[in-house]
Amino acid sequence: MTSNRTSSDRFGTDVAPPRVDLFSDTVTRPTSAMRAAMAEAEVGDEQRGEDPTVNRLRARVCELLGTEDAVFLPSGTMCNQISLRVHCAPGDEIITDVTAHVRHYESGGPAALSGVNITTVDGRDGVFSAQQLLAALRPDDNHFPPSRAVVLEQTANLPGGVVWPLDAMREVCDAAQANGLRRHLDGARLFNAVVAAGVPAADYCGLFDSVWIDFTKGLGAPVGAALAGSADFIRRAWRFKHQFGGAMRQSGVIAAASLHALDHHIDRLADDHNNARRFADAISGAPGLTVEPVHTNMVFFQVSDAAGFADATLAHGVRFSVVGPNRLRAVTHLDVTSGQVDEAAAVVRRVAESWTA
Ligand SMILES: *Cc1c(COP(=O)(O)O)cnc(C)c1O
Repeated sequence: MTSNRTSSDRFGTDVAPPRVDLFSDTVTRPTSAMRAAMAEAEVGDEQRGEDPTVNRLRARVCELLGTEDAVFLPSGTMCNQISLRVHCAPGDEIITDVTAHVRHYESGGPAALSGVNITTVDGRDGVFSAQQLLAALRPDDNHFPPSRAVVLEQTANLPGGVVWPLDAMREVCDAAQANGLRRHLDGARLFNAVVAAGVPAADYCGLFDSVWIDFTKGLGAPVGAALAGSADFIRRAWRFKHQFGGAMRQSGVIAAASLHALDHHIDRLADDHNNARRFADAISGAPGLTVEPVHTNMVFFQVSDAAGFADATLAHGVRFSVVGPNRLRAVTHLDVTSGQVDEAAAVVRRVAESWTA
């Protein structure tokens, strides 16, 4: 089994953060400008639709994604789970890539919360074809779970922060629609794709029935995600927001951080992408180490013992996540400078060299 240190393992105020934390883009702390925006937020009761800051955020998300309506939620996981709950009935099946977050990292939510079965397609780096989707469709026969929805991930996390090309996405979504499937986009890192590919978010989102973005990944906010779609979809999503415990009160305090992130932290994702490439270049050629291609803000690399390697770098103040017995992930973000990336790369090289010495 792989081990993955997460903050939930550690309880206490005396835990010093690693000097360079490449564990995930979720480790960012709100900037002082973001905290100031939070402190000044106008608030009201969100559940009653009376929080002006949340309502501004919803409007802003609709403008960016080209959707009719949007709802503010505590997490991306809840966006995925509410969407499946709206789109599917118990016993229905969704189709997604074998690497999908919704399949691996959401605690069995689709089964537990919606009674949904998952079938997978084995895409290339998380990107699959219309043909593969069609091959996964179930015949209309009482023996089979009804194929109900397709879930795509932009960027595809586990395969390496890979960007779905717009044309590939369109082909799959067209085939899905022609076969009566709902189309759902897990856009946890949609803006990394927007910045890397130069494609407006609305161009991707227009292909889907439901889409969401996470404010706590590269955008650097402390809490929150927004689920967007048609007015009818969002009206139905609101019921499950309440049912799943995601209806909040004066959440303008956190929505202000998300608005700030949309204003100030989208374009700078290009810096994270540059830093990821810088890191990959700096560690490539280190002994016993294979670096995978870099697409956005993630660098995956392979070593003989990923957990042991991560322990060794952590002892030098550099943290990675362990994503397989031989695979590590480094994620660049708002709280990592190019100088820190160089420092982390130097630690990786030193550890790699001492292992093979
Ligand atoms: C992080 C992530 C999620 C879940 O988002 P949370 O806000 O952490 O609940 C879903 N999908 C992908 C691809 C992610 O990277």
